[in-house]
Amino acid sequence: MGRLSDSERKAIIEKMRAVESQHAQAGVSASSRIICHNCGHARPLRGAVRYDRYRLCNDCALRYELALAEGDVKTIEDFVLALGIRPEEPESEPQSRSLLARLRKRLGF
Ligand SMILES: [Zn+2]
Repeated sequence: MGRLSDSERKAIIEKMRAVESQHAQAGVSASSRIICHNCGHARPLRGAVRYDRYRLCNDCALRYELALAEGDVKTIEDFVLALGIRPEEPESEPQSRSLLARLRKRLGF
């Protein structure tokens, strides 16, 4: 952490806030909720972002964008598999198996 400059960090935060206001302007209900694939909580649909087959709440999307920008993760799978919960049907994707194997190898179990 801390490899981003303050202005780079601020730009990412602004970008993710903008998603939320775009959703509000597009008429997305403030009471609509999604289950975030990263934190597992019911969070507002406003500001939620879909990456590949994962849907993240605004807070997690911000953390992902920051981790990505800092080079801590390379893909959404790295982020979700390393830090969060997995989506409903990971078995349907053979790719997730090898990712999991890679992660296991990295973590040593
Ligand atoms: Zn979340």
